[in-house]
Amino acid sequence: MNPTVSIVGRPNVGKSTLFNRLIGRRKAIVHDEYGVTRDRHYGESFWNGRNFTVVDTGGYLPNEEDVITAGIREQVHLAMDESDVILFVVDTESGISSLDQSVANMLRKQEKPVFLVVNKADNEQKTMEAVEFYSLGFDEIYPVSAISGTGTGDLLDKVVEKLPPEEPESNEPKYPKIAFVGRPNVGKSSLMNSLLKSDRCLVTDIPGTTRDSINSHLEYEGKNYIIVDTAGLRKKAKVKENIEFYSTVRTNRAIKEADVVVLMLDANQGFDDQDKRILREAENFNKGIVIALNKWDIVPEKDTNLLKEFHTYIYSKVPTMKYVPIISISALTGQRIEKVISTAEKVIQERKKEISTPQLNNFIEALLKERALPVKRGRKLKIQYAVQVKSNPPVFKFFMNNPQELPPNYRRFIESKLREEYGFEGVPITMVFRQK
Ligand code: GDP
Ligand code: GDP
Repeated sequence: MNPTVSIVGRPNVGKSTLFNRLIGRRKAIVHDEYGVTRDRHYGESFWNGRNFTVVDTGGYLPNEEDVITAGIREQVHLAMDESDVILFVVDTESGISSLDQSVANMLRKQEKPVFLVVNKADNEQKTMEAVEFYSLGFDEIYPVSAISGTGTGDLLDKVVEKLPPEEPESNEPKYPKIAFVGRPNVGKSSLMNSLLKSDRCLVTDIPGTTRDSINSHLEYEGKNYIIVDTAGLRKKAKVKENIEFYSTVRTNRAIKEADVVVLMLDANQGFDDQDKRILREAENFNKGIVIALNKWDIVPEKDTNLLKEFHTYIYSKVPTMKYVPIISISALTGQRIEKVISTAEKVIQERKKEISTPQLNNFIEALLKERALPVKRGRKLKIQYAVQVKSNPPVFKFFMNNPQELPPNYRRFIESKLREEYGFEGVPITMVFRQK
């Protein structure tokens, strides 16, 4: 996984401006459909041949004045735990504040490399004035203008030098990766522990340098997997926004890395926006998806219909994701924990499934018979043929006249028929329509 560079500092010093500059964000953001990326405060950067993740810790701070100080102190703590390099941003326009002093004190007491970035050094005069920040006790200062970009290149040169050495590619065998994700306290670490104790699974640590997810090797029924465990986030954190912020950053990094994402829910807590965001994110990256309803042992009044009712409830929250399998487990008692792995295995196989072109053409013929395509601007829409251009994850290409005229409901019809015919349980399907 990429190393992490966190940006810390009090409000209004220019953290988010610097963040946008470092990730080279363009104005238009793709994939904003579901509000997945709107409030995203982490992004990928590439400089001098190195990839790294940049995190803007200012993102989720509470608004109330009295919690800001506590919130910032805690964010700095979390940043120290969660990142490889810290950018401490201050502001020449407003000078040194007591909050800057206290952040500096915290950062000087620890080992992670810290860069004191003096922002808003927009001209020579301001850059000269930046020297006052030497009094914060760091060896170097880095005057920049986040708005114009001046100084940020020199800063990045130095930051990249301090990143941990790249992990050798061969260190980890190329087994399918299963990521356990979910809100804090849903039982991610308990599931890991139970799998460790199960005599049907063999779990061994993979020594590595990443700190924000712990990868383990798991063998089950003769097959090998890498388990990406996102648990273990500092439980000491008190400010709720901070915990959520870092678990979001971690979760999204784990999702990107995984083949299958197992979203864990606490069956006694229900489903919220954060869970929805995780599912959307997994779907956007075309990952296999499984939902595990945990703490089934303490669900009251279990009868045979209860799991069905849970299915209905969850699918009502994400109506386009009925293809995602939902299983009930208890990480605590070990009940059905192996089913998490066997269901993930099924999804891994489904994701690799390949449908031949003749099969697809029969499929289309049947499809058009069942529901005719509409006439648009006096011309009948036609799908000539389709090809699965890729598997793992699957991508289907449909060749037709006027693809831009294809009604969205017909598109959904094709997807549901594809699933009816070929399964693809737990697997997002990409469909593209091209002019023939
Ligand atoms: P954050 O709260 O630390 O994330 O700060 P923002 O990035 O939102 O910036 C706060 C204000 O400072 C905004 O009005 C920015 O336009 C301004 N700002 C940010 N960087 C610079 C800079 O390099 N020069 C100047 N003059 N203003 C800046
Ligand atoms: P994480 O933050 O997602 O890693 O969650 P933990 O594994 O630390 O679990 C949070 C709490 O829920 C702990 O007190 C666990 O003992 C409890 N817990 C986890 N799984 C189960 C379960 O299946 N049943 C019950 N009753 N409690 C559970």
